[in-house]
Amino acid sequence: GYQLASGYGYTDGLGEMASKPYKWYTTGLSAPLLSDVANGTQPHTYKELLNKLQSPLVDKESLDRKVVDDLLKERKQIYWNTLHTPIKEPKVDGLVRPGDKLAGSSKACFLCLVRNEDLDGIIGSIQELEEQFNEDFNYPYVFLNDGKFTKDFKDAIRKALPRGRKIEFGSIEPSLWDMPSNIDENEFKEHMEKLSGIQHADQLSYHNMCRFYSKSFYHHPLLKKYKYAWRVEPGVHFYCKVEYDVFQFMQMNDKIYGYVLNLYDSPESIETLWTKTFDFLQENPHYLNENCAHEWVRDNVQKPDNYDVTQGYSTCHFWTNFEITDMDWLRGPIYEAYMEFLDSQKGFYYERWGDAPVRSLALALFADKGRIHWFRDIAYSHFPYTNCPSCPEGSERCNGDCRPGFFVPWENLEIENCQATWIKYSMDQKDLDMY
Ligand code: GDP
Ligand code: MN
Repeated sequence: GYQLASGYGYTDGLGEMASKPYKWYTTGLSAPLLSDVANGTQPHTYKELLNKLQSPLVDKESLDRKVVDDLLKERKQIYWNTLHTPIKEPKVDGLVRPGDKLAGSSKACFLCLVRNEDLDGIIGSIQELEEQFNEDFNYPYVFLNDGKFTKDFKDAIRKALPRGRKIEFGSIEPSLWDMPSNIDENEFKEHMEKLSGIQHADQLSYHNMCRFYSKSFYHHPLLKKYKYAWRVEPGVHFYCKVEYDVFQFMQMNDKIYGYVLNLYDSPESIETLWTKTFDFLQENPHYLNENCAHEWVRDNVQKPDNYDVTQGYSTCHFWTNFEITDMDWLRGPIYEAYMEFLDSQKGFYYERWGDAPVRSLALALFADKGRIHWFRDIAYSHFPYTNCPSCPEGSERCNGDCRPGFFVPWENLEIENCQATWIKYSMDQKDLDMY
């Protein structure tokens, strides 16, 4: 059968990685002024947050069968109600429409990290994306590869996209992709053996990919000129028209991150990610945002084993195969410091830290949760999960190929959906009323 705990995260942990206190000088960056890097969070607030982050969402003692059942039922209801409310687009002023002066004017691109052999899969994805969105907005594409794209690949992509579409192809420098020098190859191999059973854990290239998408992609020379990147993977589907400029929406509404699917991860892949992250927080408590999504991080109700294996992280994460990032935020001092720290902890190789939990923890801890946007109007699937909203009566926005509220083909994987947790604890009334 299809065995997949959730986000495709995977690993075996290693307990003995020494956790050294993190200091600016270990990053090789010059120390910025505290006022430049802090979220402005005051000591009494971050102390309280640190305490909260050390305790589960619900007391372990009070988590009996009935409490859990009731909470899970409530979450199911929240998800059902939300996905069955007919929606069209965010109800905000100033949506930019096709043909408007500002349409297509954001510093934004689609980002496709692929290999030559992914050609058919990525063509399917970008053709659906063009049909549902980009034919009206004409945003450019950046294709990246750790190897070299063949002429056949480039020709086929150009042919598949409308004439005049700006398309760039780039290779990734080894310094941004390869295993870094602080990783010992023999030790890596030993750990890979222990990680067998965790999806992709035995592939060096997958570790490189996860690290690249965590801490490097936004430094690639072809992406420097852009603020936003919409990540597109091979083999994904878009089922409904998006009739406004989503990048302009993000800019005008001060969003730094857009996602569609919200899942629990496989805790074995990130056994020490949370404890290491907590070390970083203790060294840099002022980085915590006072309006951070701590409840979502601390949820121990739905997948208590995940919380236990990671010693304190729900494993809820934004599924990054779809993500719209504000790369200026990633390029900022807090995210960069966190990445340098994580890299120094070696978990991209000795465990199998995914870019999804890494990005998600950064956002959930260091950003105002109001700046993270669930694009629930964007109907999307990457096997095996789907985000499918319902449309107003008579609307022709959606093509009918996804069923509203449908999440996954296997009932036993319904539990992997963390969206209700986000809705309940991280969305304020303004967010809830936006659609
Ligand atoms: P999954 O969704 O977690 O199963 O991972 P994927 O196999 O879809 O990989 C995630 C993204 O990285 C996709 O866009 C892949 O095309 C890309 N990718 C993964 N490994 C490599 C690699 O070794 N080289 C290149 N160029 N792209 C890769
Ligand atoms: Mn994928």
